[in-house]
Amino acid sequence: MKSLIERSEAAIVHTYNRFPIVLTRGKGYRVWDAEGNEYIDFVAGIAVCNLGHAHPRIAQAVCRQADRLVHVSNLYYTEPQTELAEHLVKHSFAGKAFFANSGAEANEAAIKLARKYFSDKGNSERFRIITMKGSFHGRTMATLTATGQSKIRGGFDPLLAGFSYVPFNDIDAIEKAVDDTTCAVMVEPIQGEGGVQVPSQDYLADLRRLCDRKGILLILDEVQTGMGRTGALFAYEHYNIEPDIMTLAKALANGLPMGAMLATDEVASAFTAGSHASTFGGTPLVSAAALAVVKTMEEEEIVSHCKKMGDYLMNAVCQLKTAHSCITEVRGKGLLVGAEIDRDGAPVVDKCLKKGFLINCAHGNVLRFIPPLIIDKEPIDRLMEILDGIL
Ligand code: PLP
Repeated sequence: MKSLIERSEAAIVHTYNRFPIVLTRGKGYRVWDAEGNEYIDFVAGIAVCNLGHAHPRIAQAVCRQADRLVHVSNLYYTEPQTELAEHLVKHSFAGKAFFANSGAEANEAAIKLARKYFSDKGNSERFRIITMKGSFHGRTMATLTATGQSKIRGGFDPLLAGFSYVPFNDIDAIEKAVDDTTCAVMVEPIQGEGGVQVPSQDYLADLRRLCDRKGILLILDEVQTGMGRTGALFAYEHYNIEPDIMTLAKALANGLPMGAMLATDEVASAFTAGSHASTFGGTPLVSAAALAVVKTMEEEEIVSHCKKMGDYLMNAVCQLKTAHSCITEVRGKGLLVGAEIDRDGAPVVDKCLKKGFLINCAHGNVLRFIPPLIIDKEPIDRLMEILDGIL
């Protein structure tokens, strides 16, 4: 009889390099495979399951809503979607939200909105968006074009017109790249897929000032950094700035597919009925899950716990660096932490898996630690012991 892994390889397009385990259930920061082996999850679905697996409040919200109303068209109003939008708006810079199903779709909406905003002002020659080298914004045609990594864009020509790339954390490069055709700068506050790259403390504030001076929009892609991951609800809060547009996804509904684009009232007004839409965007079901997420985060003070655990993890990884010269740099904020090593990271990830720990490698040689925000000290200590042995 064929194993499940063989069946999967036979039936599913090979777009993923998968680890040879079949995961069947999870609870908190633990997951189990089909053979009953337990793993501590420092991947969290790549910064998705911020409240951990099988969180009772999320499960209950989903079950209750599934029993009541899963989907109606966006031709009608629903309470969960409205309440969620109100919550996000209240806790952010934004005046309005648009709901989508993924990070890429949220970014698509942001790209379209920036162009439409200037087009409505009679400035349709302002369509160019500046993004950063090493960035990651998604896999749809527009968002892979926005992504500043040639390995992700390769093979998909012709790409969408109107994107240019500059080095991350280089304000002068952006200044030089802005011209009369630029409508926006789009940037991750911390590059996640690019290898946990944290900019200098002034970078985003300088960028905000530059955008204001040039009359262009600042789009923050907080798909990975949002929803408490960096020790603030949104990463921009660390830098005392506000964007014009921000995108969210990943942890927004703790694993149910949901993306959101938030914008100031002024910018959002460029979208009118028919400008943009999504059949599944903000269904009652995913909105109910996301509402349970935001309420749980608030009531259980998840963000301050993340900050504490993030400091603990950062300190532990820095100690590991002093003992192992193969770690060349440790970077991160909150529970988004990367340890760059002077060799391929894949064998380290494989060895951690064999020892019962799921970790991930970004950009080839950056060990990335992105556990659920409910993690505590003990699993962090155990992972450090294991890494100490492996390195
Ligand atoms: N933007 C950032 C910063 C991301 O990290 C990702 C995914 O890793 C995306 C966008 C794309 O999100 P999705 O895979 O949900 O389309």
